[in-house]
Amino acid sequence: MTLQEHAASESVLGAEEEALVELSAKIIEAAAADGASDIHINPTPRETTVRFRIDGVLQDVLTLPKNVHDPLLTRFKAMADLDTSNRRTVQDGRILMNLRGQEYDLRENVIPSVLGEKATLRLLDKVRGLPGLERLGYREEDRKRLESPLRAPSGVIIFSGPSGSGKTTHAYAALQHIARPEVNIMTIEDPVEYSLPGMVQIGVNKKMGLTFPVGLRGILRSDPDIIFVGAIRDLETAELCFQAAMTGHLVMSQLHATTAAGVIERLLDMGIEPFVISQGLILASAQRLVRVLCKDCREKAKYSAKFLSDLRKRAEAEGLIWPNKPPVFYQAKGCEKCRKTGHWRRIAVFEMLPMDHEIACMTAARASVEEIRQAAIKKGMTTMFADGIYKAMTGEISVEEVLRVLSISL
Ligand SMILES: [Zn+2]
Repeated sequence: MTLQEHAASESVLGAEEEALVELSAKIIEAAAADGASDIHINPTPRETTVRFRIDGVLQDVLTLPKNVHDPLLTRFKAMADLDTSNRRTVQDGRILMNLRGQEYDLRENVIPSVLGEKATLRLLDKVRGLPGLERLGYREEDRKRLESPLRAPSGVIIFSGPSGSGKTTHAYAALQHIARPEVNIMTIEDPVEYSLPGMVQIGVNKKMGLTFPVGLRGILRSDPDIIFVGAIRDLETAELCFQAAMTGHLVMSQLHATTAAGVIERLLDMGIEPFVISQGLILASAQRLVRVLCKDCREKAKYSAKFLSDLRKRAEAEGLIWPNKPPVFYQAKGCEKCRKTGHWRRIAVFEMLPMDHEIACMTAARASVEEIRQAAIKKGMTTMFADGIYKAMTGEISVEEVLRVLSISL
Protein backbone atom coordinates (compact mmCIF):
# COMPACT_ATOMS: atom_id res chain seq x y z
CA MET A 1 0.00 0.00 0.00
CA THR A 2 1.38 3.46 -0.85
CA LEU A 3 1.56 6.22 1.72
CA GLN A 4 -1.34 8.05 0.05
CA GLU A 5 -3.47 4.89 -0.06
CA HIS A 6 -2.74 4.22 3.58
CA ALA A 7 -3.67 7.79 4.49
CA ALA A 8 -6.99 7.39 2.67
CA SER A 9 -8.03 4.42 4.83
CA GLU A 10 -11.18 4.90 6.86
CA SER A 11 -9.52 4.51 10.23
CA VAL A 12 -7.12 7.39 9.47
CA LEU A 13 -9.99 9.55 8.23
CA GLY A 14 -11.80 8.79 11.47
CA ALA A 15 -8.52 9.83 13.18
CA GLU A 16 -8.30 6.66 15.23
CA GLU A 17 -5.32 6.46 17.56
CA GLU A 18 -3.89 3.21 16.19
CA ALA A 19 -4.20 4.35 12.58
CA LEU A 20 -2.41 7.60 13.41
CA VAL A 21 0.43 5.70 15.09
CA GLU A 22 0.83 3.65 11.92
CA LEU A 23 0.56 6.68 9.63
CA SER A 24 3.19 8.66 11.55
CA ALA A 25 5.52 5.63 11.41
CA LYS A 26 4.91 5.21 7.68
CA ILE A 27 5.68 8.89 7.03
CA ILE A 28 9.02 8.60 8.86
CA GLU A 29 9.91 5.35 7.11
CA ALA A 30 9.00 6.75 3.68
CA ALA A 31 11.10 9.88 4.33
CA ALA A 32 14.09 7.74 5.33
CA ALA A 33 13.63 5.44 2.33
CA ASP A 34 13.52 8.45 -0.02
CA GLY A 35 16.67 9.90 1.54
CA ALA A 36 14.78 12.98 2.75
CA SER A 37 16.49 15.36 5.17
CA ASP A 38 13.28 16.94 6.49
CA ILE A 39 9.56 16.23 6.79
CA HIS A 40 7.16 19.19 6.70
CA ILE A 41 3.57 18.88 7.85
CA ASN A 42 1.84 22.01 6.61
CA PRO A 43 -1.69 23.17 7.26
CA THR A 44 -3.36 24.75 4.21
CA PRO A 45 -6.87 26.27 4.07
CA ARG A 46 -8.55 23.07 2.82
CA GLU A 47 -6.17 20.25 3.66
CA THR A 48 -2.84 19.23 5.10
CA THR A 49 0.20 18.55 2.97
CA VAL A 50 3.15 16.40 3.91
CA ARG A 51 6.30 17.42 2.09
CA PHE A 52 9.79 15.90 2.05
CA ARG A 53 13.00 17.78 1.40
CA ILE A 54 15.03 15.50 -0.86
CA ASP A 55 18.44 16.59 -2.18
CA GLY A 56 17.70 20.07 -0.93
CA VAL A 57 14.38 20.49 -2.76
CA LEU A 58 10.89 20.25 -1.22
CA GLN A 59 8.43 17.81 -2.79
CA ASP A 60 4.77 17.17 -1.94
CA VAL A 61 4.32 13.53 -1.02
CA LEU A 62 0.97 13.30 0.67
CA THR A 63 -2.30 15.21 0.97
CA LEU A 64 -4.54 14.63 3.97
CA PRO A 65 -8.04 15.89 4.75
CA LYS A 66 -8.26 18.82 7.15
CA ASN A 67 -9.77 16.79 10.01
CA VAL A 68 -6.63 14.62 10.24
CA HIS A 69 -4.35 17.60 10.81
CA ASP A 70 -4.77 18.18 14.55
CA PRO A 71 -4.77 14.49 15.55
CA LEU A 72 -1.63 13.88 13.43
CA LEU A 73 0.14 16.91 14.93
CA THR A 74 -0.82 15.72 18.40
CA ARG A 75 0.66 12.32 17.59
CA PHE A 76 3.96 13.83 16.36
CA LYS A 77 4.10 16.12 19.39
CA ALA A 78 3.55 13.21 21.77
CA MET A 79 6.36 11.28 20.05
CA ALA A 80 8.78 14.13 20.81
CA ASP A 81 7.52 14.57 24.41
CA LEU A 82 6.09 18.01 23.63
CA ASP A 83 3.12 19.58 25.41
CA THR A 84 0.18 18.38 23.30
CA SER A 85 -2.30 20.73 24.98
CA ASN A 86 -0.22 23.80 24.06
CA ARG A 87 -0.92 24.99 20.54
CA ARG A 88 0.15 28.59 20.91
CA THR A 89 3.92 28.54 21.30
CA VAL A 90 6.95 27.27 19.44
CA GLN A 91 8.13 23.90 20.74
CA ASP A 92 11.26 21.87 20.04
CA GLY A 93 11.88 18.24 20.81
CA ARG A 94 13.56 15.08 19.73
CA ILE A 95 12.27 11.67 18.69
CA LEU A 96 14.44 8.59 19.23
CA MET A 97 12.65 5.47 18.08
CA ASN A 98 12.96 2.02 16.67
CA LEU A 99 10.60 1.10 13.84
CA ARG A 100 10.62 -2.49 12.65
CA GLY A 101 14.26 -2.94 13.65
CA GLN A 102 15.53 0.39 12.32
CA GLU A 103 16.79 3.21 14.58
CA TYR A 104 15.52 6.73 13.89
CA ASP A 105 16.66 10.01 15.38
CA LEU A 106 14.63 13.11 14.52
CA ARG A 107 14.60 16.69 15.70
CA GLU A 108 11.12 18.19 15.76
CA ASN A 109 9.96 21.77 15.68
CA VAL A 110 6.33 22.83 15.99
CA ILE A 111 5.29 26.39 15.26
CA PRO A 112 1.78 27.92 15.40
CA SER A 113 0.63 29.45 12.11
CA VAL A 114 -2.64 31.21 11.33
CA LEU A 115 -3.94 28.03 9.68
CA GLY A 116 -2.87 25.74 12.51
CA GLU A 117 0.33 24.21 13.78
CA LYS A 118 3.14 23.31 11.40
CA ALA A 119 5.58 20.55 12.29
CA THR A 120 9.05 20.13 10.83
CA LEU A 121 11.04 16.99 11.51
CA ARG A 122 14.73 16.75 10.62
CA LEU A 123 16.07 13.27 10.14
CA LEU A 124 19.47 12.86 11.75
CA ASP A 125 21.27 10.23 9.85
CA LYS A 126 22.70 7.58 12.10
CA VAL A 127 21.93 4.83 9.68
CA ARG A 128 24.05 5.47 6.64
CA GLY A 129 27.15 6.45 8.59
CA LEU A 130 29.53 9.24 7.75
CA PRO A 131 31.41 9.35 4.48
CA GLY A 132 35.18 9.74 4.54
CA LEU A 133 37.00 12.71 2.98
CA GLU A 134 37.64 10.72 -0.20
CA ARG A 135 33.90 10.35 -0.87
CA LEU A 136 32.87 13.98 -0.53
CA GLY A 137 33.80 15.17 -4.00
CA TYR A 138 37.05 17.04 -3.36
CA ARG A 139 39.24 17.51 -6.39
CA GLU A 140 42.84 16.46 -5.89
CA GLU A 141 44.05 20.08 -5.49
CA ASP A 142 41.37 20.94 -2.93
CA ARG A 143 41.98 17.77 -0.96
CA LYS A 144 45.67 18.67 -0.68
CA ARG A 145 44.70 22.19 0.37
CA LEU A 146 42.62 20.72 3.18
CA GLU A 147 44.92 17.91 4.24
CA SER A 148 48.01 19.99 4.81
CA PRO A 149 46.39 22.31 7.43
CA LEU A 150 44.82 19.22 9.01
CA ARG A 151 48.36 18.02 9.77
CA ALA A 152 49.33 21.36 11.35
CA PRO A 153 50.04 21.18 15.10
CA SER A 154 48.03 24.34 15.77
CA GLY A 155 45.81 26.92 14.10
CA VAL A 156 42.17 27.54 13.27
CA ILE A 157 40.42 25.86 10.33
CA ILE A 158 36.99 27.22 9.44
CA PHE A 159 34.30 25.53 7.37
CA SER A 160 31.73 28.01 6.14
CA GLY A 161 28.53 28.02 4.15
CA PRO A 162 24.83 28.58 4.77
CA SER A 163 22.87 25.99 6.77
CA GLY A 164 22.28 22.86 4.73
CA SER A 165 25.55 23.27 2.80
CA GLY A 166 27.00 20.07 4.22
CA LYS A 167 29.73 21.77 6.24
CA THR A 168 29.15 19.66 9.37
CA THR A 169 29.53 16.45 7.37
CA HIS A 170 32.81 17.83 6.02
CA ALA A 171 34.08 18.93 9.41
CA TYR A 172 33.28 15.46 10.79
CA ALA A 173 35.02 13.78 7.87
CA ALA A 174 38.07 15.97 8.52
CA LEU A 175 38.02 15.06 12.24
CA GLN A 176 37.79 11.37 11.45
CA HIS A 177 40.64 11.76 8.98
CA ILE A 178 43.00 12.97 11.72
CA ALA A 179 41.67 10.90 14.63
CA ARG A 180 44.37 8.66 16.13
CA PRO A 181 44.53 6.94 19.49
CA GLU A 182 47.36 9.18 20.68
CA VAL A 183 45.50 12.49 20.23
CA ASN A 184 42.75 13.84 22.45
CA ILE A 185 39.94 15.20 20.26
CA MET A 186 37.16 17.04 22.07
CA THR A 187 34.10 18.70 20.60
CA ILE A 188 31.42 21.13 21.75
CA GLU A 189 28.33 21.08 19.55
CA ASP A 190 24.73 22.25 19.44
CA PRO A 191 23.48 19.55 19.20
CA VAL A 192 25.79 16.54 18.77
CA GLU A 193 24.53 15.28 15.41
CA TYR A 194 26.56 12.11 15.01
CA SER A 195 28.53 10.25 17.59
CA LEU A 196 32.11 9.91 16.42
CA PRO A 197 34.33 7.07 17.56
CA GLY A 198 37.41 8.02 19.57
CA MET A 199 36.28 11.55 20.45
CA VAL A 200 34.80 13.20 23.50
CA GLN A 201 31.70 15.10 22.39
CA ILE A 202 29.89 17.61 24.53
CA GLY A 203 26.44 18.97 23.70
CA VAL A 204 25.50 22.58 24.43
CA ASN A 205 22.82 22.77 27.11
CA LYS A 206 21.71 26.36 27.61
CA LYS A 207 19.25 25.50 30.41
CA MET A 208 22.15 24.08 32.42
CA GLY A 209 24.42 27.00 31.53
CA LEU A 210 26.59 24.87 29.27
CA THR A 211 27.11 27.32 26.41
CA PHE A 212 29.80 27.29 23.72
CA PRO A 213 32.20 29.53 25.75
CA VAL A 214 31.64 27.57 29.00
CA GLY A 215 32.12 24.23 27.25
CA LEU A 216 35.17 25.47 25.37
CA ARG A 217 36.82 26.72 28.60
CA GLY A 218 36.15 23.32 30.15
CA ILE A 219 37.68 21.56 27.16
CA LEU A 220 40.79 23.75 27.38
CA ARG A 221 41.33 22.52 30.95
CA SER A 222 41.01 18.89 29.80
CA ASP A 223 44.34 18.69 27.95
CA PRO A 224 42.98 18.53 24.39
CA ASP A 225 45.05 18.28 21.20
CA ILE A 226 42.32 18.95 18.65
CA ILE A 227 39.10 20.84 19.35
CA PHE A 228 35.96 21.06 17.24
CA VAL A 229 33.61 23.93 18.03
CA GLY A 230 30.23 23.39 16.32
CA ALA A 231 29.61 27.06 15.63
CA ILE A 232 31.21 30.45 16.18
CA ARG A 233 28.26 32.74 16.86
CA ASP A 234 29.72 35.29 19.25
CA LEU A 235 32.94 37.18 19.93
CA GLU A 236 33.70 35.26 23.14
CA THR A 237 33.65 31.87 21.37
CA ALA A 238 35.68 33.28 18.48
CA GLU A 239 38.31 34.70 20.84
CA LEU A 240 38.56 31.44 22.76
CA CYS A 241 39.10 29.52 19.49
CA PHE A 242 41.99 31.81 18.51
CA GLN A 243 43.47 31.72 22.02
CA ALA A 244 43.37 27.93 21.91
CA ALA A 245 45.14 27.97 18.54
CA MET A 246 47.82 30.36 19.83
CA THR A 247 48.49 28.02 22.75
CA GLY A 248 49.22 25.04 20.54
CA HIS A 249 45.88 23.46 19.65
CA LEU A 250 44.34 22.64 16.31
CA VAL A 251 40.84 24.12 16.32
CA MET A 252 38.15 23.43 13.74
CA SER A 253 34.92 25.34 13.64
CA GLN A 254 32.03 26.47 11.50
CA LEU A 255 30.83 29.92 10.61
CA HIS A 256 28.07 31.42 8.51
CA ALA A 257 29.94 33.14 5.68
CA THR A 258 29.14 32.88 2.00
CA THR A 259 32.70 32.64 0.64
CA ALA A 260 36.11 31.57 1.90
CA ALA A 261 37.41 35.15 1.85
CA GLY A 262 34.16 36.16 3.55
CA VAL A 263 35.25 34.14 6.62
CA ILE A 264 37.96 36.73 7.32
CA GLU A 265 35.47 39.58 7.00
CA ARG A 266 32.99 37.81 9.28
CA LEU A 267 35.64 37.35 11.98
CA LEU A 268 36.64 41.02 11.68
CA ASP A 269 32.97 42.03 11.94
CA MET A 270 32.69 39.99 15.13
CA GLY A 271 35.51 42.02 16.60
CA ILE A 272 38.56 39.77 16.31
CA GLU A 273 41.73 41.80 15.79
CA PRO A 274 43.17 41.50 12.24
CA PHE A 275 46.60 40.38 13.51
CA VAL A 276 44.96 37.63 15.58
CA ILE A 277 43.21 36.31 12.46
CA SER A 278 46.33 36.53 10.31
CA GLN A 279 48.37 34.64 12.94
CA GLY A 280 45.77 32.07 13.95
CA LEU A 281 43.70 31.21 10.88
CA ILE A 282 45.30 28.55 8.69
CA LEU A 283 42.46 27.66 6.32
CA ALA A 284 39.05 29.07 5.42
CA SER A 285 36.81 26.94 3.28
CA ALA A 286 33.37 27.54 1.81
CA GLN A 287 31.01 25.11 0.20
CA ARG A 288 27.56 24.47 -1.28
CA LEU A 289 25.79 21.23 -2.13
CA VAL A 290 24.84 20.54 -5.73
CA ARG A 291 22.65 17.74 -7.04
CA VAL A 292 24.33 15.01 -9.06
CA LEU A 293 22.80 14.20 -12.47
CA CYS A 294 20.95 10.91 -12.82
CA LYS A 295 23.18 8.84 -15.12
CA ASP A 296 20.20 6.97 -16.55
CA CYS A 297 18.51 9.97 -18.10
CA ARG A 298 20.97 12.90 -18.32
CA GLU A 299 21.14 14.50 -21.78
CA LYS A 300 23.87 16.33 -23.64
CA ALA A 301 23.40 20.06 -23.19
CA LYS A 302 23.41 22.40 -26.17
CA TYR A 303 24.57 25.92 -25.42
CA SER A 304 25.00 28.94 -27.67
CA ALA A 305 28.52 30.09 -28.53
CA LYS A 306 27.83 33.28 -26.56
CA PHE A 307 26.82 31.34 -23.43
CA LEU A 308 29.87 29.09 -23.67
CA SER A 309 32.17 32.03 -24.11
CA ASP A 310 30.65 33.86 -21.10
CA LEU A 311 30.91 30.67 -19.05
CA ARG A 312 34.55 30.21 -20.00
CA LYS A 313 35.44 33.84 -19.30
CA ARG A 314 33.97 33.74 -15.83
CA ALA A 315 35.32 30.29 -14.94
CA GLU A 316 38.84 31.29 -16.06
CA ALA A 317 38.62 34.52 -14.07
CA GLU A 318 37.78 32.37 -11.04
CA GLY A 319 40.73 30.03 -11.36
CA LEU A 320 39.62 27.26 -13.72
CA ILE A 321 41.94 26.06 -16.47
CA TRP A 322 39.75 25.55 -19.54
CA PRO A 323 40.61 22.34 -21.44
CA ASN A 324 41.91 22.42 -25.02
CA LYS A 325 39.28 19.95 -26.15
CA PRO A 326 35.75 21.47 -26.13
CA PRO A 327 34.05 20.18 -22.97
CA VAL A 328 30.81 18.17 -23.11
CA PHE A 329 28.15 19.27 -20.64
CA TYR A 330 25.05 17.37 -19.56
CA GLN A 331 21.68 18.47 -18.26
CA ALA A 332 18.89 16.92 -16.21
CA LYS A 333 15.90 15.21 -17.78
CA GLY A 334 14.07 12.88 -15.38
CA CYS A 335 13.10 9.21 -15.38
CA GLU A 336 11.43 6.64 -13.12
CA LYS A 337 14.71 5.88 -11.33
CA CYS A 338 15.24 9.46 -10.17
CA ARG A 339 11.55 10.18 -9.41
CA LYS A 340 11.47 12.44 -12.50
CA THR A 341 13.84 14.92 -10.87
CA GLY A 342 16.85 14.18 -13.10
CA HIS A 343 19.02 14.00 -9.99
CA TRP A 344 20.07 11.75 -7.16
CA ARG A 345 22.21 12.53 -4.04
CA ARG A 346 24.44 15.58 -3.77
CA ILE A 347 28.10 16.46 -3.72
CA ALA A 348 29.78 19.67 -2.65
CA VAL A 349 31.54 22.40 -4.58
CA PHE A 350 34.33 24.07 -2.63
CA GLU A 351 36.73 26.91 -2.36
CA MET A 352 39.73 26.62 -0.06
CA LEU A 353 41.70 29.64 1.06
CA PRO A 354 44.91 28.75 2.89
CA MET A 355 46.49 31.53 4.91
CA ASP A 356 49.97 32.47 3.72
CA HIS A 357 52.26 35.45 4.22
CA GLU A 358 50.59 37.62 1.59
CA ILE A 359 47.00 36.89 2.66
CA ALA A 360 48.06 37.39 6.28
CA CYS A 361 49.50 40.83 5.44
CA MET A 362 46.33 41.71 3.53
CA THR A 363 44.19 40.60 6.48
CA ALA A 364 46.29 42.64 8.89
CA ALA A 365 45.78 45.65 6.58
CA ARG A 366 42.01 44.98 6.49
CA ALA A 367 41.93 44.38 2.73
CA SER A 368 38.45 43.90 1.22
CA VAL A 369 36.90 40.48 0.59
CA GLU A 370 37.28 41.02 -3.16
CA GLU A 371 40.98 41.93 -2.88
CA ILE A 372 41.68 38.83 -0.78
CA ARG A 373 39.66 36.67 -3.16
CA GLN A 374 41.55 37.95 -6.20
CA ALA A 375 44.91 37.40 -4.48
CA ALA A 376 43.86 33.85 -3.55
CA ILE A 377 42.77 33.08 -7.15
CA LYS A 378 46.17 34.28 -8.39
CA LYS A 379 47.76 31.77 -6.00
CA GLY A 380 45.73 28.91 -7.41
CA MET A 381 42.42 28.97 -5.50
CA THR A 382 39.44 27.87 -7.59
CA THR A 383 36.15 29.39 -6.46
CA MET A 384 33.01 27.33 -5.83
CA PHE A 385 31.82 28.42 -9.27
CA ALA A 386 35.03 27.27 -10.99
CA ASP A 387 34.99 24.01 -9.02
CA GLY A 388 31.35 23.52 -10.08
CA ILE A 389 32.12 24.09 -13.77
CA TYR A 390 35.06 21.68 -13.51
CA LYS A 391 32.67 19.07 -12.10
CA ALA A 392 30.10 19.89 -14.80
CA MET A 393 32.80 19.10 -17.40
CA THR A 394 33.03 15.57 -16.00
CA GLY A 395 29.29 15.13 -16.60
CA GLU A 396 28.57 14.59 -12.92
CA ILE A 397 26.53 17.76 -12.44
CA SER A 398 24.90 20.30 -14.75
CA VAL A 399 25.95 23.90 -15.42
CA GLU A 400 22.35 24.95 -14.59
CA GLU A 401 22.64 23.40 -11.13
CA VAL A 402 25.89 25.28 -10.42
CA LEU A 403 24.29 28.57 -11.52
CA ARG A 404 21.15 27.85 -9.48
CA VAL A 405 22.94 26.95 -6.26
CA LEU A 406 25.31 29.92 -6.45
CA SER A 407 22.58 32.33 -7.68
CA ILE A 408 24.67 33.31 -10.71
CA SER A 409 23.20 34.42 -14.02
CA LEU A 410 25.44 34.61 -17.06
ZN1 LIG B 1 16.77 9.70 -14.15
